[in-house]
Amino acid sequence: MSAQVSETRYRNYIGGEWVMPSGAELRPNQNPADTREVLGEFPRSSEEDVARAVEAAAEALPGWRRTSGPQRSAILTKAAEILERRAQEIGEVLTREEGKTIGEGVGEVLRGVQILRFYAGEPLRPIGENYASANPDTFLYTERVPVGVVGVITPWNFPVAIPIWKLAPCLAYGNTAVFKPAELTPLTAHLITEVFAEAGLPPGVLNLVHGPGQVVGEALARHPKVNAITFTGSNAVGRHLYQIASARGAKVQLELGGKNPVVIAEDADLAQAVEIVTSGAMRSTGQKCTATSRVIVAEPLLKEFTEALVERAKSITVGPGIDPATYMGPLVSEERRESVLRYIEIGKQEGAKLLTGGEPLTGPEHKHGFFVAPTVFADVEPTMRIAQEEIFGPVVGVIRARSLDEAIEIANGVDFGLSASIITRDIRKAFHFIRSVEAGIVHVNSETAGAEPHVPFGGMKGSSSYSREQGRAAMEFFTQTKTVYLDL
Ligand code: NAP
Repeated sequence: MSAQVSETRYRNYIGGEWVMPSGAELRPNQNPADTREVLGEFPRSSEEDVARAVEAAAEALPGWRRTSGPQRSAILTKAAEILERRAQEIGEVLTREEGKTIGEGVGEVLRGVQILRFYAGEPLRPIGENYASANPDTFLYTERVPVGVVGVITPWNFPVAIPIWKLAPCLAYGNTAVFKPAELTPLTAHLITEVFAEAGLPPGVLNLVHGPGQVVGEALARHPKVNAITFTGSNAVGRHLYQIASARGAKVQLELGGKNPVVIAEDADLAQAVEIVTSGAMRSTGQKCTATSRVIVAEPLLKEFTEALVERAKSITVGPGIDPATYMGPLVSEERRESVLRYIEIGKQEGAKLLTGGEPLTGPEHKHGFFVAPTVFADVEPTMRIAQEEIFGPVVGVIRARSLDEAIEIANGVDFGLSASIITRDIRKAFHFIRSVEAGIVHVNSETAGAEPHVPFGGMKGSSSYSREQGRAAMEFFTQTKTVYLDL
C-alpha cells in the first residue's frame, strides 16, 4: 500500500454547524494497517467546546421532544437510506481507520442500517399503558418521555454500529445528544454525523465533539445539563464515569468488557467447534467485547481439539483488511499491540504453553502496521491472569475441564459476564449450561461474538450496569415514565 496523507481538517458539529474550535491542537488519524496513510486531522476540543455543544443540545430539546413521532420516524428512515447508499464507502473508511476487514467493515455499516430501520419504527409504536383506576372517572395512564440531553461516549472497536445503536434510540425517543467518539476513530463518527444531518435532523439535536476522553468525555460526565450518559468502553473508565455522573444524579448506562468462554462438550463436532472458536477469537483481531478468549474443553477432546485449533490459527491470513482475502487485520494502535504482547509475556511467565503466534508480524505487508500473529495458549489454568483479564487481541487460551459442571464453574469464575457459548447437540447439556452460566448473552453452537440488532444486548456482573441496549429494551434507558391521573 502506498503512503498517503490527507490534509483534510475535520470539525466538530455543534448547533447544526461544522465548527473548528479556536486554538485546538489537531490530531492526525492513521491507518493501523499502514501508518503512512493519514486519513485526516481532528480537533482536540476543550471543556468549553463541550459546554457549547451541551447548550445547543439543551436548546434543541423542547423542539425535538415536541416533534411528532411520524416526523422523527421519517428522519431516521431517511438516515437509514443514506447510510445504506453509502455503505461501501463508509465501510472502506471504517476498515482503513480501525483495521477490521472490509467484509466486517461494510457488514458493520449495514448493521447500522438495520438498527436505524428498527428505531425508525419506535416513534410509531405504543409508548405507554392504560390502567384501571379506583375512580371510574379517572383516566389513568403512563407515558414514556425523553430523559433529556444525553452524552454518548463510544469506543473505537465498532465505530459505526455502537454510536448508531445508542444514537438511534436516543433520538427516536425524543432526546438530544452530544456525541463523543473515540479519538482513534473520528472519521467514521464524522460520517455518521453527516448522515444524520443530511437526513434532516434539526440543528442542535445531534452534536459531535472530537477530543480526548479525559477532557471531552469527562466534561460531559460532569456537566449539570447532561441528564444521562451512555458509555461503552473499558471497565476502568466506565466505573470512573459512573462515579462522577451518578453522584450528581445523572442516569448512567455502562457496557463494558468481557472474558467470554466457549465450552466444548464431550459430544461436540470438532470441526464445527474449531471454526466457531477461531472466528469468535480472531475476527476483528479479537477486539470485540464479545470475542472468545477462553475455550474450556472436555478432557477426552482436549488433545485433538487443541491440535486442530492450532492448525487453523496458523492458516489465518493476516494483513491489511482492505484486501478481501484477509481474515484478520491489525490491532487498532501501537498501544493496543503493546498491551496484547505484554499479556502474551504474562501468559508465558505464568506457565501457559504458547502453541502458536505470540509475536508481532514484520513481513513486507505488515511492517507499517500493528500486526500480531493469531495466538493460542494451552495448559491455561483458570486463575491465571490471561484467563481472568480482558486481553482484547487475537489470543485464546485452552483450559481443561473434567466435567460439564467444572466447565461451567470455570466459565463463571471471572468478574465479567457478557457472552458465553457451548458446543453440544445434547439438549440436556445445552439447557443446563443456559441455566447455569452467568452471561447476558448465551449461544448454543454459535460463536460468542454474534448479536442481532433488534434484540436486547448487554452483560451481567462486571460487564454492564444491568441495563440493556438494542431492541425495545433500549427504551428503558432513553426514557422515563410519567404516570398521569386525568380527571375532567
Ligand atoms: P476506553 O478506553 O474505555 O474508551 C471508551 C471511550 O471513553 C472513548 O471514547 C474514550 O475516549 C473515552 N474515555 C477515555 N477516558 C475517559 C475519561 N477519563 N472520561 C470520559 N471518557 C473517557 O475503551 P476502548 O479502548 O475505546 O474500548 C475497548 C473496551 O470497550 C473493551 O473493554 C471492550 O470490551 C469494551 N466494549 C464493550 C462493549 C459492550 O457492549 N459491552 C462493546 C464494545 C467494546 P478516547 O479513546 O478518545 O480517549
